[in-house]
Amino acid sequence: MKDWHQSGIEDYWICGERYRRNHVTGEVSADSASNLMGKAVHEAMAWGLKALKDNGELVSLDQMAVYASDVFYDLVGEDEESEDPIPWGEGVIDDRAHEANVMASSLWESIPGLLVTYGEPLSVEQSFSGVPVTPTAKIAGTWDLLTEDYYILDWKTSRNSWRPGDEFKKIQPVVYARGVEHVTGKWPEGFIYVVVNRRGDVRVKPVPVPKEKLVFLQATLDQLERARQSNIYPMNPTSGLCSETYCTWFRRGCPAAILKGAA
Ligand code: SF4
Repeated sequence: MKDWHQSGIEDYWICGERYRRNHVTGEVSADSASNLMGKAVHEAMAWGLKALKDNGELVSLDQMAVYASDVFYDLVGEDEESEDPIPWGEGVIDDRAHEANVMASSLWESIPGLLVTYGEPLSVEQSFSGVPVTPTAKIAGTWDLLTEDYYILDWKTSRNSWRPGDEFKKIQPVVYARGVEHVTGKWPEGFIYVVVNRRGDVRVKPVPVPKEKLVFLQATLDQLERARQSNIYPMNPTSGLCSETYCTWFRRGCPAAILKGAA
């Protein structure tokens, strides 16, 4: 039985075909510039937090910016000094003013305040897998930070700021709360999204995760697991995310593009 990741659950919610292509057929979607920046920021934050946990000292904002930038260019495989746009996937990374270093250093600037509010780092980048939620469905994931006061903190990099209330529509908080409970034996106090946009604007968005939410996760996964075991992946061209901008498969052979007159 394959573990469910938060991204798989959210993909299935949006569209069964999107889930099938992203998680079943092994087709690989092109890494976007946004994904690469997100990966670099996450790696840099984990580096800084592990150093803090081990040495009790915060690395400087400059060190954080340089580290994130280095990771980003390593991932892209390009020369940092070049002025040319970086080809990647189906597009280019052409706006160097909004790169990973801006987002990582802005997030890092918010860390002292976050630690005062939510507690010092307890565990950084901890993975969990094979965590049972129903008799037939298991989950997996990796949390960015669990604090000593038992809050899960999760970094999100975003082209634009989230709309008010976006944080309450996500399945991740309860998935990760269950992961924390399984690994540590204790249900967390809350889940905190820390969202940074490419201008470096940081917003903190707490989401309560009362244990009753587990019932919702169980019902959702029960339904999805049954659909997956029956190979049912309904296409959903009516989704607001079924477009060239929000779904990589729109231009890569999904019949929805033809249905919508875009191919
Ligand atoms: S293009 Fe639309 S229908 Fe096709 S996988 Fe994406 S969201 Fe689903």
